[in-house]
Amino acid sequence: MSGATWLPPFVDHHVHLQLVEADRLRGSGLAGVVDLGGNPAVVARSARGATAAADQGAPYVRFAGAFLAAPGGYPSGRAWCPDGAVREVRSPGDAEEAVAEQLSYGVSVVKVTLNADAGPVLDAGTLAAVVTAAHVGGVPVVAHVEGGGMTALALVAGVDALAHTPWTEQVDDGLVRRAARVGQRWISTLAIHAHDEDAQRSAVDNLGRFHDAGGRVLYGTDLGNGDLPLGVNRDEIAALVLAGLDEDAVVAALTDPWPGTLHPDGLATRILGVPPDDLAQLPAWLVSAEVGRRH
Ligand SMILES: [Zn+2]
Repeated sequence: MSGATWLPPFVDHHVHLQLVEADRLRGSGLAGVVDLGGNPAVVARSARGATAAADQGAPYVRFAGAFLAAPGGYPSGRAWCPDGAVREVRSPGDAEEAVAEQLSYGVSVVKVTLNADAGPVLDAGTLAAVVTAAHVGGVPVVAHVEGGGMTALALVAGVDALAHTPWTEQVDDGLVRRAARVGQRWISTLAIHAHDEDAQRSAVDNLGRFHDAGGRVLYGTDLGNGDLPLGVNRDEIAALVLAGLDEDAVVAALTDPWPGTLHPDGLATRILGVPPDDLAQLPAWLVSAEVGRRH
């Protein structure tokens, strides 16, 4: 087959560069990555390194800085959690300081954790103060939600995006519609549940209803968490198709410049051939993508 299809740049909207170095993503189909939690000084350094190496095929990096968490809250104490990656937030006043610290590193988004299954979570007042301070600083807020009621807590607080499709609860239709209506984005991360059928079924069901309601889905894999392919993940795309996304919706999820409004200049995606008619062939076709640079 001759000829190529050109698409906007592909982005993995959920990675951890302290667990998988940006260098290892050179030559993959990913033109950009969004780091959703780490030691902000270390991640900021990786982002600068990737920018300097853009000509050698490193992806561009946007990042969230530290995980803002309740004292003792997730992911404090997790074996994979790097030193300095958690910033405990004690009060609404402290929330302003915590957000200012992240902004001083040049973050594009602020990350909070709301994991009721793994310790204390931020109270509504402190969470609201994080959201307000981030918005005043011009960046959105993304939340890790896990455990009963956490999706609702994030939505009521005005959180802009979920770092994972909820998988520990069936999100009720009213909440799903409301999330879609206010423009909340859900980062997919469906393939991380490959070894937990119930969790994956639940996440695919939640994401499918969110998409049907007009919700904005972002492709993301939590790259760095466990053993995932370095590049565009075929299983993640297959799961998006399973959730009911068609070709245009999958491409939209891969090419959204969130948390920015534009991609850096000069980037595109190049794939040999034309999109397959059969959706079952779509994952393999998209995985063959290369970053095309236009100078
Ligand atoms: Zn993650």
